[in-house]
Amino acid sequence: MATILRDGDLSLLDGSVAVVGYGSQGHAHALNLHDSGVQVVIGLREGLSSWSDAEEAGLEVRPIAEAVRGAQVVSLLLPDQVQPKVFTESVEPSLEPGAAVLFAHGFNVLYERVRPGEGHDVIMVAPKGPGHVVRRLYSEGYGTPALIAVERDASGSARETALAYAVGIGAGRAGIIETTFKEETETDLFGEQAVLCGGTTELIRAGFETLVAAGYQPEVAYYECLHELKLIVDLIWEGGLQHMRWSISDTAEFGDYTSGPRVIDERVRETMATLLGEIQSGAFAKRWVEDMDTGEPELTRLRAEAEGTQLEAVGEELRGLMRREDARAVG
Ligand code: NAD
Ligand code: MG
Repeated sequence: MATILRDGDLSLLDGSVAVVGYGSQGHAHALNLHDSGVQVVIGLREGLSSWSDAEEAGLEVRPIAEAVRGAQVVSLLLPDQVQPKVFTESVEPSLEPGAAVLFAHGFNVLYERVRPGEGHDVIMVAPKGPGHVVRRLYSEGYGTPALIAVERDASGSARETALAYAVGIGAGRAGIIETTFKEETETDLFGEQAVLCGGTTELIRAGFETLVAAGYQPEVAYYECLHELKLIVDLIWEGGLQHMRWSISDTAEFGDYTSGPRVIDERVRETMATLLGEIQSGAFAKRWVEDMDTGEPELTRLRAEAEGTQLEAVGEELRGLMRREDARAVG
């Protein structure tokens, strides 16, 4: 079993930490570090609206190059697509000798799209949750688990720096696990493709469309295949698969055991292995990088194709009714 780490030495972050980017992860890391007593400087492109958001939250904001200058840890929290360009143009020329470069996801390092020079630690602190949850749980006194990794240890203390940063953003409260850039990136890509995002969205869509094609009301199909999913996942998240099965009816449990393996059958498992192979060989990264580097034509087309479905239209209407204020007005 993996060793779960809880504690680190925050004094390793003395001096300042430059958090480049103030989006989902950026705002969460910056505010959590700040509240943990670490001196944080936000690096942003001038003219962004997030500049005033960060200042209003009580943080110091500078243009990227200025924030990087003087920082001992530079956390690159920009969208993965823009990291290579911003790193080369605005971060690298201002990096202090010996400064550590920190990532929240391993993609750009594993596939060699961002390459900090020899004298710099290259580390990762990857929270296993969306940025807004990382911030909310910290504010409530809890934390989001995180993975840490060292790609290059130039200073001799790269691991301890990553650990300190992870503790600073509150991950120690939930558990920190050591990994490698390769393991984090490959499992992250696999998870989002096969289970969390791709697998789940298609499972919902297939279930909804099967019911609607058979003549059932779309609203009923929506409640069944999408709305209730969250309630079931909440139970699984709280106590595992058997806890969920304990809570549902025996009829639902019987159908779970008898039909689940027929939906996720041998063919699906083989497809999952194929996806993993494409991730491990770099074929998936190659396809996505080519798209990113040419203005994302494939992503734009896929996004447009996914819009305007009956599932989304029905959902928008029903979710409108379930907004808290409307529900109160009726009830
Ligand atoms: P984001 O899209 O939320 O943040 C974008 C930030 O970068 C904003 O401040 C934006 O203004 C700035 N930005 C965008 N384009 C820019 C440009 N061309 N030049 C300068 N600044 C620009 O990003 P994110 O989702 O927080 O992702 C940051 C990193 O965290 C990525 O490596 C991602 O893989 C990783 N990560 C994200 C999540 C998540 O919850 N979103 C979870 C785990 C890891
Ligand atoms: Mg992930």
